Amino acid sequence: MGISVNLRHLEREDVVLEGELPVEKLDVDAGDEVITLHEPLRYTIAVQHLEQSLLLEGRLRLALECNCVRCLKPFEYIIDLNPWRCHVPLEGEDAAPVNNDCVDLTPYAREDILLEFPQHPLCKPECRGLSSKTISSVKKTGDSVDSEAGSSPWSELNKLKF
Ligand SMILES: [Zn+2]
Repeated sequence: MGISVNLRHLEREDVVLEGELPVEKLDVDAGDEVITLHEPLRYTIAVQHLEQSLLLEGRLRLALECNCVRCLKPFEYIIDLNPWRCHVPLEGEDAAPVNNDCVDLTPYAREDILLEFPQHPLCKPECRGLSSKTISSVKKTGDSVDSEAGSSPWSELNKLKF
């Protein structure tokens, strides 16, 4: 069972759905070996029944295990749709199917999550990859690379203080 809501429950009051959707149920095809899923989708969704549709408002959060396309380093990429809003039509051409008063909301969550998948995951925007030149320079001057990157914001702060 994916994420679903019972329309009869909605007749009385708004419903809040909260839980985890296993990766198998989310059933996304990352289509690429650089992204794998190992954690469930976490969701909190408030469902409101409007006249001819459902209004979903809440949060979707999914952790992706990515491999940087440049340096192949594994890293975690978090998709956090907060707030997530979605409109589910109950009438017309795009109407969501209703089975035993229940509407499956999983496809809507899946669609919006997929849109957030990184096309070319990078461990950091400035990653230069694994060219042989980079490797040798990191080995020789590993320390200076760190201090160079970390110094400027703090020295700016110090200037402000004194
Ligand atoms: Zn990288």
